[in-house]
Amino acid sequence: MSTRTTERLVYERGPRGERDLERAAELLRAGGLVAFPTETVYGLGAVALDADAVRRIFEAKGRPPTNPLIVHVASIEQARQVAANWPEAAERLAARFWPGPLTLVLPRAPAVPPEVSGGLEAVGIRLPAHPAARALIERVGAPLAAPSANPYTGISPTSAEHVAKGLSGRIEAILDGGETTVGIESTVLDLSVDRPRILRPGAVCAAEIEEVIGPVERLAGGAEEALPSPGLARRHYAPKARVVLLGADELGARAASADASVGVMAILPPPPARGAARWIAMPDDPAAYARQLYRTLHALEDAGVKELWIELPPAEEAWDGVRDRLHRAAG
Ligand code: AMP
Ligand code: MG
Repeated sequence: MSTRTTERLVYERGPRGERDLERAAELLRAGGLVAFPTETVYGLGAVALDADAVRRIFEAKGRPPTNPLIVHVASIEQARQVAANWPEAAERLAARFWPGPLTLVLPRAPAVPPEVSGGLEAVGIRLPAHPAARALIERVGAPLAAPSANPYTGISPTSAEHVAKGLSGRIEAILDGGETTVGIESTVLDLSVDRPRILRPGAVCAAEIEEVIGPVERLAGGAEEALPSPGLARRHYAPKARVVLLGADELGARAASADASVGVMAILPPPPARGAARWIAMPDDPAAYARQLYRTLHALEDAGVKELWIELPPAEEAWDGVRDRLHRAAG
C-alpha cells in the first residue's frame, strides 16, 4: 500500500461511527496502517500477524527495526495466543490491571512474526482500556502491533491532531477518539525472566504490581537513569526545544531572567518576577500531570519556544513514569 492522503475517521456512536470503525478495520485487514486511540497515547496499528504490515510501521515512523512493538489484544484469550506461555503471574496481573496501562513481556508465540518484537524472543502484550481500541481489535479479528503514533524520537501523540501533525500522508487512516486520559505510555513489566523487572515506568507503579506478585526489580536510582529496555533510546519523547530540568528552588531563582523564547512547565506557583517566559502551571498530582505532559510539550513546540525549563517533580515512586519521560525529553 502506498499512502497519499490519510483518511480521518471518527470513533462515535451512530451510523457514521459504525461506518468509520468498519473502514478502519478494512484498511488494517488489507495490510494498512491505522492510528487509533488508547488510554495511554495514540497507537500506530497494523495486524500483528502480518509481517509486511508490521515492517511498514517501522518505515512510517522512521523507527529502527530492533525496537520492539507492543501487541494490543481485546481479550485475555487473545493474549494467550500471542504468548508462548502464560504464567500464573500474568494471569494474576491481567486480572488486576487489565484492561489498562500495563504491558507484560512474555515469550513470543511462533505465530507472531519476529519483526514485531525487533527480533527478540519475548513480546510485549497489552489489553487496552479505551473502548475504541478494543472495538477496533475485535472488528479486525486479530491482535494489533502498535507503537506510539509519532515519528521516531518525536513527542508521543495524545490526540488525533498530534498524530496528523507527525504522520499525515504516511499512514492510511487516523481513528479520532478524542484526547487520551492516562497521557503517558504503559508500564512495561518483563515476565520472561526469572525475576520480574520493570523495563519502563508508567501509570501502574512497582508497589502496586508487588501487591499482586511479590518483589519486582525496579530501576536503579529511580527514574533518573535511562533503562536498558531494548529500543528505549536515552533521548526519546523529545521536543525540538532544548530541555533543561531544574529543581523548584533553582527554577524560582532563574525565573526573572527568562525571555519570551523560554517555556516553563512548573508545579510551583509562578513567582511575581518571571521575565517574559510562557509559564505553564502543571498539576501537583502525578496522574493529572501525566495526562497533560505530552499535550503541553506539543503546544510549547507548536508555539516555537527555543528552551524549555521544566521543574522536576518529587523523587517519589508515584512520579516515576513522569520523571522518566522528562529525563528522556531532556536527553
Ligand atoms: P512504544 O511502542 O513506543 O510505546 O514502545 C514500546 C516499548 O516497550 C519498547 O521501546 C520497549 O521499551 C518495550 N518493549 C516492548 N516489547 C518489548 C520486549 N519484547 N522486550 C522488552 N521490552 C519491550
Ligand atoms: Mg514511542
